Amino acid sequence: MPIRRPEPIAVRRNRRPKPKPETDALGFGRFFTDHMFMMDYEDSRGWHDPRIVPYGPIELDPAAKVLHYGQMTFEGMKAYRSPSGGIRLFRPDMNLKRLSRSNVRLGIPPIDEELVSEAIRRLVLLDRDWLPAAPGTSLYIRPFILAVEPLLGVSPSREYRLIMIMTPVGSYYEKGGDPVSIRIETEYVRAVRGGLGGAKTAGNYAASLKAQEEAASRGFAQVLWLDGVHRKYIEEVGSMNVFFRIGEKVVTPALSGSILDGVTRDSVLRLLNHWGIGTEERRIAIDEVAAACRNGTMAEAFGTGTAAVVSPIGELDWDGERLLVGNPGEAGPLTRRLYDELTGIQTGRAPDPFGWTV
Ligand code: PMP
Repeated sequence: MPIRRPEPIAVRRNRRPKPKPETDALGFGRFFTDHMFMMDYEDSRGWHDPRIVPYGPIELDPAAKVLHYGQMTFEGMKAYRSPSGGIRLFRPDMNLKRLSRSNVRLGIPPIDEELVSEAIRRLVLLDRDWLPAAPGTSLYIRPFILAVEPLLGVSPSREYRLIMIMTPVGSYYEKGGDPVSIRIETEYVRAVRGGLGGAKTAGNYAASLKAQEEAASRGFAQVLWLDGVHRKYIEEVGSMNVFFRIGEKVVTPALSGSILDGVTRDSVLRLLNHWGIGTEERRIAIDEVAAACRNGTMAEAFGTGTAAVVSPIGELDWDGERLLVGNPGEAGPLTRRLYDELTGIQTGRAPDPFGWTV
């Protein structure tokens, strides 16, 4: 790929802006703003034509590789409104670095992180009226890269398109901040070490749908994934990383290659260390979790992710056995403290000692 100087981002404004949805109707990912960002890649030209255009359908050749072999990557991050009316992004550099790592795993050429960062800034500013103002709401930003070469051979595409869309969101889970019941998944696995689990790519989510559906039909909010080899070690909860407070230690599964390296996970670990609370990143067997629930040392458990920030877990179902976490009716003190601190930093309500917000 030739080295190119970044091109300026062209802007074609939407002359027919849509009415904004009511805050109560927002949900997650149902409404989209008036503009989107796009740029294209061919092996001979590199990334080119960065542009902001009116939001709308895209045309793809039916033979585009992504439609057959799933060669794609994506990211998810949020913009928040601060009390002074400003707009903040939370650690967007981490998302762009992760996008680059996902690209490496999927055989997708590298992006210019600075250019995409500038595209995020421009797109958010152009559609800033879509950022809802109510507490807990935000604007979710979804960049994604598709292999668009029309060729059915199984090989990395020589053509790509990067697109970025934005959606105003309310609260991700219907139950909001209340502790949820989680089903420990013993049949299906999400990813294996050496596979795609550490990358943010569509196939991992396709792999999760059946288990999620079965859990939901039994009244559970999410599944807890075990590793695909031993069927024994904790991986993630739904599409979140997972933490347990057992006694005075906070433990989370080590990044093994099959787990997504969450931005919220990293932020929680750094906050806990900053507060002098001991953390461990290691393998956690399901038997250890079950024993801690049974003997009353499982004080708190929670998932972490951009969508729900910190989401308390009240109980786990392990093949019909109910494993209770702390006081299952309410979020534990550390869960609440982390939620308050992180959302405080994200929205500018709390000081940002780490320089995380942009
Ligand atoms: N695991 C998976 C599988 C996810 O999709 C996400 C959401 N990106 C996370 C964990 C949490 O990552 P983050 O904190 O960066 O949102």
